[in-house]
Amino acid sequence: MPPVIERISALRQTVTAWKKEGARVGVVPTMGALHEGHLSLVRAAREGAERVIVTIFVNPAQFNDPEDLKKYPRDLAGDLALLAPLGVDAVFAPPVEEVYPPGFATSVHVAGVSEGLCGAGRPGHFDGVATVVAKLFNMTAADRAWFGEKDWQQLQVVRRLARDLDIPVEVIGCPTVREADGLALSSRNRLLSAEARARAPALYRALCDAAAALEAGEAAPDALECARRAILAAGFERVEYLELRAEADMAPMEALSAPARLLAAAWLEGVRLIDNIALAPR
Ligand code: AMP
Repeated sequence: MPPVIERISALRQTVTAWKKEGARVGVVPTMGALHEGHLSLVRAAREGAERVIVTIFVNPAQFNDPEDLKKYPRDLAGDLALLAPLGVDAVFAPPVEEVYPPGFATSVHVAGVSEGLCGAGRPGHFDGVATVVAKLFNMTAADRAWFGEKDWQQLQVVRRLARDLDIPVEVIGCPTVREADGLALSSRNRLLSAEARARAPALYRALCDAAAALEAGEAAPDALECARRAILAAGFERVEYLELRAEADMAPMEALSAPARLLAAAWLEGVRLIDNIALAPR
């Protein structure tokens, strides 16, 4: 099992010793309940850094809904067992009061890329993400950090904050890992009943169909409306957003005129699922 570190002081000591040996330090920030998507980031980190830290911290600051925080899956023992064969050097799993001690008063707000999409539906979410990621970068002093494209908007927020705050970390995005039926792996999938789980891949299918239509020249409003109807017809209660955004700067797009991302959030059985795919004009 990888050693579990709970205190920032112990983490710093460990990292200082690694850096003295000339090792590059990589970090994979997670909220635990690990799955193959997380493990793909850990494997990439293993290739790209001599020492790898996985952080496991369910960050209360990024949950706008207390119920969602309460029901978020947690399984540290299971996570450690999954990480054991991967050669992780340390797991940093701090208690909440280590990250947010009494008197904590600072928040990092990344304007622009955090607006709309998940930022609209989850007020304060990206401030919570940006704050904790900035703290994790400082705590770990990582040279490189791996994030999943599954959370595309989050990846843009993290890139922006590292650049804007002059944090000397290279942020690396990795492709979304999917189940055989296309459903993006997510810790939240385990909250779905078997019946809902069977319906869930409709979200990815709708994105793929809309992307094909857009790439074939169909107008964006028609393609998006068709996808929205397909998601609802599959049994999702609500489509929170379904949008075409420019890959370069996340600006909203009326038509597929440059490389883009099609992004969606939809609710199934009270569980919020998100996904996105890349598309480009032919
Ligand atoms: P989370 O534990 O959900 O906060 O995710 C931790 C990291 O794993 C983030 O960088 C996510 O984007 C990434 N991640 C989550 N699901 C996947 C997936 N299916 N494929 C690739 N990366 C993922």
